[in-house]
Amino acid sequence: MPTMPPPDTAPTRHDPDVLVIGGGIVGLFCAYHLRRRGGSVTVVERGAVGGPASCSYGNTGFVGTQGATPLAEPGVPAQGLRWLLNPESPFYIKPRWDPGLLRWLWHFRRACNDRDAKAGFRVLVDMKKRSLEILRELCASDDLASTFTAQGMVLAFRTPQGFEKACRSVPEAVANGVPLRALDPGELRDLEPDAEFDVHGALYNEEGAYLKVPDFVLEFARVLEGMGVEIHAQTEVVGFETAGREVSRVRTTRGDFHPREIVIAAGTWSAECARKLGVGFMLQPAKGYSVTVKAPRNAPRRPVLLGEGKVALTPLGDRLRFGGTLELSGLDGTISRRRVDGILRTVRAYLPRMESTETVETWSGFRPCTPDGIPLVGRAEPYRNLSVACGHGHIGMGLAPAGGKLIAQIIAGERPDMDPAPFRVGRHGGWAPRRLRR
Ligand SMILES: Cc1cc2nc3c(=O)[nH]c(=O)nc-3n(C[C@H](O)[C@H](O)[C@H](O)COP(=O)(O)OP(=O)(O)OC[C@H]3O[C@@H](n4cnc5c(N)ncnc54)[C@H](O)[C@@H]3O)c2cc1C
Repeated sequence: MPTMPPPDTAPTRHDPDVLVIGGGIVGLFCAYHLRRRGGSVTVVERGAVGGPASCSYGNTGFVGTQGATPLAEPGVPAQGLRWLLNPESPFYIKPRWDPGLLRWLWHFRRACNDRDAKAGFRVLVDMKKRSLEILRELCASDDLASTFTAQGMVLAFRTPQGFEKACRSVPEAVANGVPLRALDPGELRDLEPDAEFDVHGALYNEEGAYLKVPDFVLEFARVLEGMGVEIHAQTEVVGFETAGREVSRVRTTRGDFHPREIVIAAGTWSAECARKLGVGFMLQPAKGYSVTVKAPRNAPRRPVLLGEGKVALTPLGDRLRFGGTLELSGLDGTISRRRVDGILRTVRAYLPRMESTETVETWSGFRPCTPDGIPLVGRAEPYRNLSVACGHGHIGMGLAPAGGKLIAQIIAGERPDMDPAPFRVGRHGGWAPRRLRR
């Protein structure tokens, strides 16, 4: 982006320097970093920004250094097969003939080895640390301060095996800068005096932090508008026009745009959007559920991950949210009562004496998942002015800030802070019509 005016003087234009497709957390962070570099930026979002159709709406908002392990780990295929037989388990694949899913599963299976899992962990933990720094700086402002809390987080384990396995991962995590330490049930009680856990042990991450969702997304969108970013809600991208290796026009339900640069940040729908341009990559929607209830008096004060049950629990002031389950069922948004019951049963098992209160909302959302767990962030060949930022999977709230910076640096022609190689868009192969190939 050469010769851009400083942010406060740039005129608002219909044809921006950069058009970002998608108003979820990833699109908004791309817009934030792009705008800070001085270009005019427009975000188009087909629904409401921060609305329930986006995955950034009802998640548990964990950010910080925890949770950087990719989904593809050794042992996961065997555990996954056992879970498939249990209708309340945290994992499910809807049986169907879907070549895209089969290809995705093949790459996923290949990534389930120690070497790739460790390499993936290092990439993700670095991205999470960078993201946390960005969030700390951003949320120091009055507008966003109430949506970000950094008072540590707990990983709780009911079984000796679960706790011991988690403890074995501590040295590697600490060596990579994740400040984890083990707590016995007594120490956990001192840390969380209101809640009565029925657990064997816990890990504590003093850098644990979380975003109040969707409040953060809504406030952040307002901050961006204050910075001069144009945000068009209810505006769906329906097609493109190309001229050689340039995307020359973006067609939306509310008129056309002729931006200089385009970023596809449409979450799990990014694959479908890119396909319109002959760009292919591997992405599967992984459905998850959250249940938000009125906060019981004896709830934990900090966010907690219920280890073996894979359920996250987030305090949201007068509400409490539980989130979990990973279903590869395509873009089917129906809420399975049995899986939701499975989440609630898990919560009761770890916190048997927590009061049950009124449910405020039950929600499902699609995590945009790549087979190796590393987001797709970078230029999308064969186009010169197209980039992609998607595939942030189960930890997109905690990766989006640094991912957005990487996109902005690539588009601005700056030397990126992070090595862009692991995020390469074409790394699992792709397809493009012959006329588009170089
Ligand atoms: C139950 C659950 C719990 C989770 N908990 C956590 C957590 O604790 N921590 C964490 O880091 N992550 C968590 N996640 C993951 C996180 O929510 C996602 O990684 C993240 O929200 C993805 O953001 P995104 O911007 O890529 O996608 P989205 O938020 O889905 O945004 C994409 C947007 O693009 C729009 N769009 C799509 N197509 C078009 C089009 N053609 N034109 C215009 N707009 C379009 C969509 O409407 C949507 O708003 C959780 C997810 C789930 C389901």
